[in-house]
Amino acid sequence: MQEADVCIVGGGVMGAATAYAISGMADQRIILLDRYGVGNEYCSSNDVNRVFRYSYGNNQYYTKMAIESLRLWRDAEKETGQELLVPTGLLMLGGVDEHANRFNESSFKTLTNLGLGAEVYEGPELKNRFPQFQAKVGFFDPHGGVLLASKSLETFSSQAGARGVRILEKHVTAFRGKSGLEIETSDGETIRAKKLVVTVGPWTGRFLRDALTGITSTRQQLIYLKPSRDIEKFRPTSCPVFFTDHHYGLPAVGIDGVKVSNKELTEPVDPETARRSVDQEQIEQCRAACRRFVPDLGDGEVVRTKVCLYDMTENSDFVIDRDPDNRDIVYGYGFSGHGFKFAPLIGKLLAELALDREPSFDLSRFSIRRPQRKPRMAGGQLGKGE
Ligand SMILES: Cc1cc2nc3c(=O)[nH]c(=O)nc-3n(C[C@H](O)[C@H](O)[C@H](O)COP(=O)(O)OP(=O)(O)OC[C@H]3O[C@@H](n4cnc5c(N)ncnc54)[C@H](O)[C@@H]3O)c2cc1C
Repeated sequence: MQEADVCIVGGGVMGAATAYAISGMADQRIILLDRYGVGNEYCSSNDVNRVFRYSYGNNQYYTKMAIESLRLWRDAEKETGQELLVPTGLLMLGGVDEHANRFNESSFKTLTNLGLGAEVYEGPELKNRFPQFQAKVGFFDPHGGVLLASKSLETFSSQAGARGVRILEKHVTAFRGKSGLEIETSDGETIRAKKLVVTVGPWTGRFLRDALTGITSTRQQLIYLKPSRDIEKFRPTSCPVFFTDHHYGLPAVGIDGVKVSNKELTEPVDPETARRSVDQEQIEQCRAACRRFVPDLGDGEVVRTKVCLYDMTENSDFVIDRDPDNRDIVYGYGFSGHGFKFAPLIGKLLAELALDREPSFDLSRFSIRRPQRKPRMAGGQLGKGE
């Protein structure tokens, strides 16, 4: 029987960041388990890139989390010598969708009120500054950027491995806690641990009881388009991350293609059986959005596609909490399509809970207990994913 001080189940970015954080904070015997192996093709963390932004509409809480998270991304880069976050800024283009326009304007106001240097461009000024785009108005968050997602996950897990974390490919089927915790795996093994951290993303449902905050797994489709003309205009030195009415896009970072995706797909799926190929209809919709806002991408060649799953809570707030019936079990899930940018902070917070330390950020918003959660929102305030 294997024994550990802390067992982390789920080797997406949150499990890897937690292993990285705990192994940097304390001398613990740590095991990190994943049913398909850390950073596998099915998890929600393993893609070329992800959006980083300060912009969160009028929600100062997430903006402040993003500020702290940026600091931790830079620390991780220093410690590992790897570039993980490429600064590009975020351009939020005005369109016809009221929610999106409200989100853009309120993000601009929040950043301005916090003295974070947001900018607004109109008409010819917008065309001069960002010739790749067409819109009447664009709000610019200078703190936006592109996270190299797979590379970040690999960096957290290899750093954790170098510090002695045991990383194993194992499928956890059940866990129970009486005196100490017992974690059962599909190959008939039982692992004993003092603490358990559960970060299984879209698969979390199978481990939840009725009283705990639930999630819905939804199928998301990503399309990478190669611009029909000069790709250099879409490199991070000149092209920001962008939001349009219903889509978002990332410049060509880590791949010779601009990522475009619909941010409003809500199709619920079972993570065990979800179809992992994109629909032609989504490719056409992404191209149509580009014809309107980013003309050089309108007929772009598709160079890569990917399907992955959001683990949505009802109000898009995360769950970062202990099990109410057993404080040795810690949960991190429900990252609702916008968690990646906070990975080093979430890893640190899950580590603090697992090590019985005072969390360094107010976690009341992220309670696992249903009655303590804020109600569902009217829509759009968090930017609906990404
Ligand atoms: C299409 C898409 C775009 C996104 N864009 C952005 C963005 O631009 N910016 C941003 O901030 N966030 C974004 N996100 C959100 C972010 O990527 C996720 O919140 C984050 O990757 C979730 O990581 P995780 O570790 O919780 O889950 P996952 O990465 O899904 O990892 C869970 C792991 O648990 C393992 N597992 C499951 N069950 C078991 C079991 N029983 N035993 C052992 N292992 C198990 C799985 O194999 C998997 O590897 C996006 C998400 C998606 C899907």
